[in-house]
Amino acid sequence: MSMNLVTLLYLAASVCFIQALKGLSHPTTSIRGNLFGMTGMAIAVLTTAALIVELSGQGKGMVWVLLGLVAGGAYGAWRAKTVEMTKMPELVAFFHSMIGLAAVFIAVAAVTEPHALLQGLAKGDPIPGGNRLELFLGAAIGAITFSGSVIAWGKLSGTYKFRLFQGAPVVFAGQHKLNLVLGLLTVALGLGFVATQHGAFFYGMLALAFVMGVLIIIPIGGADMPVVVSMLNSYSGWAAAGIGFSLNNSMLIIAGSLVGSSGAILSYIMCKAMNRSFFNVILGGFGGEAGQAAAGGAVQRSVKSGSADDAAFILGNAETVIIVPGYGLAVARAQHAVKELALKLTEHGVNVRYAIHPVAGRMPGHMNVLLAEAEVPYDQVFEMEDINAEFGQADVAIILGANDVVNPAALQKGSPIYGMPILEAYKAKTVIVNKRSMAAGYAGLDNELFYMDKTMMVFGDAKKVVEDMVKAIE
Ligand code: NDP
Repeated sequence: MSMNLVTLLYLAASVCFIQALKGLSHPTTSIRGNLFGMTGMAIAVLTTAALIVELSGQGKGMVWVLLGLVAGGAYGAWRAKTVEMTKMPELVAFFHSMIGLAAVFIAVAAVTEPHALLQGLAKGDPIPGGNRLELFLGAAIGAITFSGSVIAWGKLSGTYKFRLFQGAPVVFAGQHKLNLVLGLLTVALGLGFVATQHGAFFYGMLALAFVMGVLIIIPIGGADMPVVVSMLNSYSGWAAAGIGFSLNNSMLIIAGSLVGSSGAILSYIMCKAMNRSFFNVILGGFGGEAGQAAAGGAVQRSVKSGSADDAAFILGNAETVIIVPGYGLAVARAQHAVKELALKLTEHGVNVRYAIHPVAGRMPGHMNVLLAEAEVPYDQVFEMEDINAEFGQADVAIILGANDVVNPAALQKGSPIYGMPILEAYKAKTVIVNKRSMAAGYAGLDNELFYMDKTMMVFGDAKKVVEDMVKAIE
């Protein structure tokens, strides 16, 4: 296979990836975007496999490549098929960790046997200075991505007793100073490797980078995990791009840069949605006060509660209703029931719209995906900035399994979520809140909205409650 053909095929794959990103920016084009992504990846993998056969001569070592492709492909397909929607962020964190580890492995292989991986080198030739720098950066970012993603995966799954996997931030005195010292040491060892090509510098740098990954993520609280996941997404892309430069592989450089920059843009958008600065998130510690606030909020306070029938009566008599879906809706898998409810209300002449907060649920776009799965018409679905002005005129805001994204605590100075833009459901004439208990949301904060005079709590699993509402309206 000529190098021109390889370049052409890699170019075709890159165009597919760009089209994939473009398609994924809107629910109506997302399936097309995914198809582009799959096509691009198939072209890239097959071209690389053909290249390996050609470069290694008679496909020597091809068995290992095939084994990796089959094992990795089968595992990925199985996980993607069986993963629950609410477990998606963990899966994404797991995939990021694998990308990071792959970058580390390639860098280790290139440092151990440079002639086998780096173009134009004979056995015993020194690695050129530029390549050493790329290997240092790719390996360091890859190692930080790997260990950081493992911690993010544990924190997101929330099922492990291990202290580092708890949602609450792990903070200790002198933490930032320690991180700074370790960061500087990592850079110093990396530069030592660039200057001397000495393995001891490289492996020392690598060990410190693994530790750094853990230390960077542990002080970050659960509420900041969306930013962490997209940030690690970005890191994994840059790690791949760094290694792509060393291997002189344009596909890795382009795909890595696309992942790196789209992850960075997404992190920026998420920070904006929570009104946090990127550095504030990275320096961590957020969520500690939240835990205390929740504990304080647990002191008994009375709320008004009603049944699904009561809620159905209020909804049936309204002119305008805004539905606010949240994480609990995804847990209950109530999206189809909600669509049914909206349909019934619309038949009764009620104007129904959905309000989507950018960080509702547990991953960016979680609610959009959920509603799209139930085939909710897109023209009923509104982003926060488009619907917030409408809450004041709405007769009813019905909140289904959402908490933090409608918490007015975000308006109060001193609150851990102060400044996070929220859906202004508290402005509606009547507020109906469905959740199972008075337990706090992801940020661990009590929610003043539940105690307002105009609020009626309807306790129970979202699917059951919404189905009961539908029956009552019929
Ligand atoms: P929250 O986590 O704040 O609240 C969800 C609520 O749903 C809980 O209060 C819970 O109360 C209720 N609930 C759980 N299960 C059910 C059920 N079966 N039926 C009915 N209610 C249920 O969710 P939000 O969507 O409001 O906010 C998202 C939070 O998650 C934000 O803090 C965000 O920063 C964070 N986050 C977002 C990510 C993203 O990318 N979107 C990723 C990671 C975190 P109860 O237990 O009483 O039922």
